[in-house]
Amino acid sequence: MYGGKFVPETLISSLSELETEFNSVVRDAEFQEELAKTLRDYGGRETPLYLAQRLSDHYKKGNGEGPVIYLKREDLNHTGSHKINNAVGQAMLAKRMGLRSVVAATGAGQHGVATAAACARLALECIVYMGTADMEKQPQNVMSMKLMGAQVRSVEGNFKDATSQAIREWIGNLETSYYLSGMVAGPHPCPSMVREFQSVIGKETRKQAIERWGGKPDVLVACVGSGSNALGLFHEFIRDEDVRLIGVEGAGLGLDSGKHSATLAMGEVGVYHGAMSYLLQSTEGQIVGAHSVAVGLEYPGVGPELSFLKDTRRAEFYNVTDEEALHACQRLCRLEGILPALEASHAVAFLEKLCPTLPNKAKVVVNCSGRGDKDLPTLFNHDSINGLLN
Ligand SMILES: *Cc1c(COP(=O)(O)O)cnc(C)c1O
Repeated sequence: MYGGKFVPETLISSLSELETEFNSVVRDAEFQEELAKTLRDYGGRETPLYLAQRLSDHYKKGNGEGPVIYLKREDLNHTGSHKINNAVGQAMLAKRMGLRSVVAATGAGQHGVATAAACARLALECIVYMGTADMEKQPQNVMSMKLMGAQVRSVEGNFKDATSQAIREWIGNLETSYYLSGMVAGPHPCPSMVREFQSVIGKETRKQAIERWGGKPDVLVACVGSGSNALGLFHEFIRDEDVRLIGVEGAGLGLDSGKHSATLAMGEVGVYHGAMSYLLQSTEGQIVGAHSVAVGLEYPGVGPELSFLKDTRRAEFYNVTDEEALHACQRLCRLEGILPALEASHAVAFLEKLCPTLPNKAKVVVNCSGRGDKDLPTLFNHDSINGLLN
């Protein structure tokens, strides 16, 4: 059993109210129509399902056989990642609940920018907590948030610390404030809400696959931080047992180094940020900080539903190192002219191991969860990448 609401008594009624309100908008045709219109005209949906021909060719065997790789282009969304799908939905929900102020936490800044954008257009006050180290790594996203009118508050530490602070701020202002989670983690109903708003990715993928080749994908691949882009793609296909679901975590400097974000591979079950799931923790049960070259993957927890999909083996989970992700990022740039976020590069990197094992013409959909513009300073400072440039 995963998930739950492991929160102080004072929060229970607010979470229940949120759950009721969320359940009502899921079935409200007017809300859904407004959301679909916003995702289309503001967010840029639907995102293309792109046949990556040269990337597919790269994995062809000597006899010309190999899988066919498609990219689900979430990188083409407004604000640069899948985060906007959820941010616009929840900001609309906050507005409908009559709350004035939105509080959020961000790691790489993608969720912060998406939330700041969604709040700006609905005239909601927006407060974003971000770790000091992350602010230094992603200065452009900090600037974007400020330009969009958000208050960016620095927190000693990284994303997990920013999340704790955002929740604390919310608890102090329950009457006026809405906590906008970007993760499929945290107390119920947060994981369900984020999954619902992200499930548009998988729904579109099914429709596009039917249009393209009249069938389903054989394999879906997505990177896993908390699991929102992975679950957003997978959810639609969970009952299609013939579709393989593959999540790729960050192995950082290697699983043995202790510096990684491979929660499902290396974690143990515990309670954190209000829910039960796999967690990176010490032998005393203290949370251990996660590491990845992709800041958006640096969370020591993972969503309850992915924890369950691991145990039931409905989804498979693997991991790739920082170095493998950096090289996959460069490979996609060279072969397709697409600069993926370093988070998404983890999913792309796993193709190196996956493709040689697949049958000829297997249809693989890789979730390209975001674009890599934010990662240019990291790429530039990385000798093994910089050394390869002309
Ligand atoms: C935030 C982020 C992720 C990781 O979060 P999930 O909840 O696992 O999706 C992955 N890719 C990008 C581009 C992100 O911004």
